[in-house]
Amino acid sequence: MAAYGIDLGTTYSCVAKIDDTGRAVVLKNTAGEDTTPSVVYFETPKNVVVGRTAKDSAVLAPDLVASLVKRDMGNSDVRWEYHGEEHTPESVSALILRELARAAAEQSGEQVCDVVITVPAYFGLAEREATRRAGKMAGLEVLDLLAEPVAAALHYQALNDTGGTRHLLVYDLGGGTFDTTVIRLSGADVEVVCTDGDHKLGGADWDAKIIDFLVHAFTAEQPDIDPGADEQGMQDVASTAEKLKKELSQAQSRKAILRFDGKAVPVELSRSQLEELTEVLLDRTLDITDRTITTAREKGVTTFDDVLLVGGMTRMPAVAAALHKRFGLDAKLHEPDLAVAKGAALFAVIKQVKVQMPEDATPAQARQAARRVADQLGMDVEHVEELAAKKVATVVPRAFGIKSLDSRDPLSRTDPDNARSIVAHLLEANTPLPVDTGPQTFYTVVDNQREVLLEVWEQAGSTASEELEHNTHIGEGMLAGLPPRPAGAPFDVTFYMTETGLLTVHGQEKGSGREVRFEIQIGGLNDEQVLQAQETVSRYAVSG
Ligand code: ADP
Ligand code: MG
Repeated sequence: MAAYGIDLGTTYSCVAKIDDTGRAVVLKNTAGEDTTPSVVYFETPKNVVVGRTAKDSAVLAPDLVASLVKRDMGNSDVRWEYHGEEHTPESVSALILRELARAAAEQSGEQVCDVVITVPAYFGLAEREATRRAGKMAGLEVLDLLAEPVAAALHYQALNDTGGTRHLLVYDLGGGTFDTTVIRLSGADVEVVCTDGDHKLGGADWDAKIIDFLVHAFTAEQPDIDPGADEQGMQDVASTAEKLKKELSQAQSRKAILRFDGKAVPVELSRSQLEELTEVLLDRTLDITDRTITTAREKGVTTFDDVLLVGGMTRMPAVAAALHKRFGLDAKLHEPDLAVAKGAALFAVIKQVKVQMPEDATPAQARQAARRVADQLGMDVEHVEELAAKKVATVVPRAFGIKSLDSRDPLSRTDPDNARSIVAHLLEANTPLPVDTGPQTFYTVVDNQREVLLEVWEQAGSTASEELEHNTHIGEGMLAGLPPRPAGAPFDVTFYMTETGLLTVHGQEKGSGREVRFEIQIGGLNDEQVLQAQETVSRYAVSG
């Protein structure tokens, strides 16, 4: 059975697999398109529609349509209700995944089960876990998650295998998220050097600026009509805005007609007007790119062999032009909407091969396993062996630390209850995985302190900060049974993080040997709730 790569995008999703010649191919959806809008229309209590039809239905039934849910992935406070049924970002994503898998199965003539799902490199643990749960709720076997820029780089490498070491800058501007990532390709190794981004910045923000412009153009002609009061009319304007934006990637100027309350107003938008309206947004991506280039330089990467443009928004000529103007970089358009799914498909096969070819296998065993996998997938043995040799190394996307008292605050010694708390980072962003921080020493704050609550916090903003409000509490464990000692007694904390981002925390008091070890269980839903959601998701009839 083939394994599939799924690019579960904020606005558009795509599925690919590796065909028997070893090439990545996209599986078209029911409408015959390569990408499917990540939109769900809860048509009836039992029936949902995913994709283009759902996106168009937003006009008629905005309250029954879910879109941009990836922006809320991992946020356990977000809930929606459709026909009285409660939904989470995960359960809506699961419905999208079900339709993607269903349509792909129809295309390929086999069941779709084993998948790799891509996530923005900048996703934290909670967002990643939520994505994994969405796959589970959709009844899929999630072999692994893969960072989107790494997927794009894998696809690039498959097409441009010139050997030697190369550094890529991946600029990914999609419908709802933005990422920049520096990747080193060296022989079989694919390694993330550093990554940065903003997961609340994307095409939808460009659309919002255009919508504003259109509405103003309308009210300038018809001051007595309030377009905001007409939900359907506003949905029409939203569709028009996205359409104009896409057309202006080719054309210099476009016209549209806006209709509210029976009045029609023609408007025109030129490419240069669009660029002016949205310059602040593009500038934000350039600032983040600048930061990424600086971080890469600190890590010894000073030149880029290629700049990959990923994400539908990079079809706007302004993107490549701005990268050239500000950084002197010559960017390549590289199947911006398909590269991620194709790279994920490649990684899915790598995963499949690795499962069957343990690293400690003897050469003979490895050969045999490669032959078995090659037979199963209908691929060459040589190609399978090449894939099995690939190593994909990632980095910690964000800083992680322990909440502690700020020792610079004098109150930390005299009145710990009122002293300032900070997050002391043990793991900096962009540290290669897997990682073991080694023991870091912390101190008790009061006399005869018998226990310490180890609170683990993850960087929330786009840059690391020790301020509590710039971090998110993600888990905790109690180091108890400490011997009675004066305040300031030392204990050690160690963080271990696996390649897939699973964090284990170890706290130890050396004198007594007391210790605590816990894995960070990302909040949100427990196993039972996931099963329940899986049941809910499976009850819907899903179509495209
Ligand atoms: P995501 O992965 O975040 O869902 P995609 O990479 O599929 O996003 O990109 C979708 C975004 O790209 C949408 O905002 C869409 O309007 C925009 N887009 C697609 N094609 C074009 C184009 N030709 N010109 C400008 N923007 C485009
Ligand atoms: Mg994308």
